[in-house]
Amino acid sequence: MSNRIGPYEIGKTLGEGTFGKVKQAVNVETNELVAIKVMEKKKILKENMAEQVKKEISVMKMINHPHIVRLIDVLVSKSRIFLVLELVTGGELFYKIAHDGKFDDHTSRYYFQQLITGVEFCHSQGVVHRDLKPENILLDSKNNIKISDFGLSALRSETEELLQTACGTPNYVAPEVLDGHGYDGKIADIWSCGVILYVFLAGFLPIDDSNLEKLFVKIKNAEIVYPSWFSPHSVSLLKKILVANPTKRATIQQIKQDPWFRIGYQPFHRIR
Ligand code: ADP
Ligand code: MG
Repeated sequence: MSNRIGPYEIGKTLGEGTFGKVKQAVNVETNELVAIKVMEKKKILKENMAEQVKKEISVMKMINHPHIVRLIDVLVSKSRIFLVLELVTGGELFYKIAHDGKFDDHTSRYYFQQLITGVEFCHSQGVVHRDLKPENILLDSKNNIKISDFGLSALRSETEELLQTACGTPNYVAPEVLDGHGYDGKIADIWSCGVILYVFLAGFLPIDDSNLEKLFVKIKNAEIVYPSWFSPHSVSLLKKILVANPTKRATIQQIKQDPWFRIGYQPFHRIR
């Protein structure tokens, strides 16, 4: 790969994604540091990107929110797609959980409020994530979360997505997604947020099994045990979110009304 794409000079590798490398780069015209996610085009089966994908990408390019990794630009070469992203320097939230073991109520709430705020904003713009998990949540230099990969699941073909679910970490996937009868991406995202909150508080997954078939059954039945150290109020919120039936699951509005969630909640307002 040449080390130049458009105005960007490609530098060191920042991380390895499921579908390609993420590199640091500098815009030689502005000196702005960015991250560039390189995706092999052959892995994106459709030669002509579906209208929906184009729409989501154009929406993502307009989304400017403190808890969402900004999509600065999308460049395309013969064989690759380059997603030019805001550079986030604090690493994955996943590593922080692994390091700390688990988070207390206060820390869990702090990150969860930011997560919900970011998800709410993208949903309000009609963009869903479909792959929310701690590995897709980055931390910036000020310990604020930045959700990555919003709207990008559309870049992957359905086959790849199923494959990823089967081979990767299906633990965050909502029960209705596994049914394969179609689902509302926004409501499925909320389930994943619930799993993430559980992981914050527990330091382990709410539903797990080394046998994939058994894991799917457990997810579909929402078989979840709440550890004794969870505060009653956090359990009350989790029980509203981790509901197998998507029509009975709490909405973002309901989550924001929850007593545990509301403590110290300071929604972000931009003055225009
Ligand atoms: P995938 O979703 O394909 O697995 P990710 O988007 O999660 O790939 O990226 C893989 C890794 O690259 C991340 O875990 C992170 O370490 C790094 N990375 C991704 N996006 C950025 C970014 N905007 N800034 C800095 N590092 C990033
Ligand atoms: Mg990712």
